[in-house]
Amino acid sequence: MAYLRDNLVKKNDPLFLIAKVRVSVPISSQNFQNGKSEFDYLVSKGTQIQIGNIVEVSFRNRTIWGVVYSLEYETRIKHSKLKQILSISGVSPIKLCNLEFLEKVSEWTMAPFGQVLRALLSAPNAYKDETPIFYYSLSSAAQFEMEKLSKARKKVINWCMQKPPVSINTLCKEIGVSRNTINSMFQEGQLERVQNSLKPKEDTQTILKHLKTAIGAASKLNLSTEQQQAADQIIVHENKFNIVLLDGVTGSGKTEVYFELVKRQILSGNQCLILLPEIALTAGWVDRFNRWFGFTPYIWHSGITASKKKIIWRDINEGYPGVVVGARSALFLPFSSLSVIVVDEEHDVGYKQEEQVIYNARDMAILRAKLAECNIILASATPSLESWTNMLSGRYQHITLTNRYGLATMPDIQTIDLTKNKPLFGKWISEPLISNIKEKLNSKQQVLLYLNRRGYAPISVCNGCGMKQSCHQCDSLLVTHRLSNLLRCHQCGVARPFENKCQSCGQTDTIQLVGPGVERLAEEVYELFPDARVTILSSDTLSNPKQIEPTIQSIEKGEVDIIIGTQMVSKGHHFPKLTCVAVIDGDFGLSGGDLRAGERTFQMLTQVAGRSGRENQRGTVFIQTSEPFHPVLQALKTQKRDNYFKLELEMRDSANMPPYRRLAAIIYSSIDETAITTYVKKLANLKPQFEDVYIHGPAPAPIYKIKGRHRFRFLVNAPKKVNMQKIIHGWHSSLVMPAIIRRQIDIDPYNFM
Ligand code: ADP
Ligand code: ZN
Repeated sequence: MAYLRDNLVKKNDPLFLIAKVRVSVPISSQNFQNGKSEFDYLVSKGTQIQIGNIVEVSFRNRTIWGVVYSLEYETRIKHSKLKQILSISGVSPIKLCNLEFLEKVSEWTMAPFGQVLRALLSAPNAYKDETPIFYYSLSSAAQFEMEKLSKARKKVINWCMQKPPVSINTLCKEIGVSRNTINSMFQEGQLERVQNSLKPKEDTQTILKHLKTAIGAASKLNLSTEQQQAADQIIVHENKFNIVLLDGVTGSGKTEVYFELVKRQILSGNQCLILLPEIALTAGWVDRFNRWFGFTPYIWHSGITASKKKIIWRDINEGYPGVVVGARSALFLPFSSLSVIVVDEEHDVGYKQEEQVIYNARDMAILRAKLAECNIILASATPSLESWTNMLSGRYQHITLTNRYGLATMPDIQTIDLTKNKPLFGKWISEPLISNIKEKLNSKQQVLLYLNRRGYAPISVCNGCGMKQSCHQCDSLLVTHRLSNLLRCHQCGVARPFENKCQSCGQTDTIQLVGPGVERLAEEVYELFPDARVTILSSDTLSNPKQIEPTIQSIEKGEVDIIIGTQMVSKGHHFPKLTCVAVIDGDFGLSGGDLRAGERTFQMLTQVAGRSGRENQRGTVFIQTSEPFHPVLQALKTQKRDNYFKLELEMRDSANMPPYRRLAAIIYSSIDETAITTYVKKLANLKPQFEDVYIHGPAPAPIYKIKGRHRFRFLVNAPKKVNMQKIIHGWHSSLVMPAIIRRQIDIDPYNFM
């Protein structure tokens, strides 16, 4: 009996309750045990606590945040060992659909639950209760003789007699006295203070009223007939789980179509989420939102301040109506009345998070919409083949926009055959392209040169010994950056100053730079067009929406003649004066081992081409290539996208590849090469056997060494209906993983390196 008393907190125990708290610490125990990061804590009975409450607990000698997942009477832990919950946050409990979402994301990605929970608990300031602020005033009971008081105290009393109560900070600043003076006056009873209750936030109805007024006063959105038809078709399925593929050519105004739907939901007091690739979230985009809505949305990305995050997180958790526009991490905000999700540029690889929790935000958004039973709109001019096949099979509703909005027409696309028009040695712009650019510049049009290579030159080779300069901790060549004068590894980011000296043989002045990067292309442009105003758009100099803003604006205003850009330019920007786009290397990415190389090149080129001629003047696109008859380029030129999709899909089908089947890449890495080799061999011997499921490997990963870690890869290939996670789980639980080894599971991998 005594034993039981010690081990169970019984139902009739009047004193305690057990809270099962999930903590935001990834417990990636070797064999997935307690992958849920759930621990038991004591709560005194009578405490106001609910499922979903954010609580502060002591965990491994630290104080951390967690979420209450259930409240029970029983525990397996010895009563004497249980700790109390330290505090309960004053914010509303997280809604159950969010808790369920986290669980499903963790199941799908196989990431430890605590790591996924971190994505939700992303604004620590939001659930920390504010330190109370006290307002000081003259004590009503105070008795004192003015003459006997110090000068400072007299000033305080005079001031307080005339003004309403204020905080100690204000008092000190206004009167010029020390905090000590105020504190002692309070202790001696001359001043009294009241706790300033936090200004209560307006209630949902008042906020909704404000939003309605703003929308009423904003410009009225007039959709074109085609846009209106699209919107009408989507509205039919409003307020239930329905996946729409909004497939419209670049410049067709897909944005305006989904704005119309978002507006309807806001007017009914709901919450909406618009996901964008991070770099497309510019002031221009927000202006456009403002124009039609009359208010600013909640903006969420890596660059926003902690104080803004706090406001957004709280408002969303409280269930206030509003629109969140954000990068992929916005998906993990604690929504409580989500009624539509938009994933704009749904094909964008930026939606794939490659570290910690490895997930595709588009796919997780679909999961979220399913749990919230709401509409989800996937918008793109170049849908991913995954979404395309789902549309073909009838899982997604297909809505098309075939015309550009207004007077804009689709650009004219021409290829320049590099085998016949070879640029001079060490140069990258061919003769026909030079004369076309000249012509555009003469008629005051803007030109974009697209080259998806950062830096100055991708390869630097020693003429003395023939060695290519490479990273000491990765199997990767160093890229020369002239603007920063660095040699940089694009795998691990390591950089060292550029010197004309071979790191292998030590000879000086022997380094030859091979191949172009945007900086080198700029050098050629300066020589060819000395009068042109040139700007480089590359993530080396501009890495978040804030930094990119001034450059984007000067391009929009026409203060730039030639833009030289990496893939960063292809994302959703609208440059009204741009009429000519030239793709410098139209072969890049068409071959190589990557499953999606062709698809990605097609998307990239379509998007880049789509930047051209977006207003009245028709745009032109030149693609320099040595394979003008490649099917990707033919499809682009003739604007027969669907033919290309068909061809690409036939290839995928016959190769047993996604989107027809599912892949998982499992990478094991370690600095200890012997340990990793032994371990993956043992795992290989334990490979499970299932019908039609293939487990390839272990093979050294294509980039075998990154940051000093040796990497081996298994690739699982299975039919889509198979529960791959379960197979992997069973297999990997059968062998203890030494602490020196790291495992990374990537379901639906995009990166095969
Ligand atoms: P997409 O997103 O489909 O690539 P955009 O959204 O960039 O195309 O639309 C092209 C341009 O047309 C934008 O400048 C946009 O503001 C404008 N536009 C589209 N639809 C409308 C509309 N209904 N009313 C006014 N302007 C519109
Ligand atoms: Zn490196």
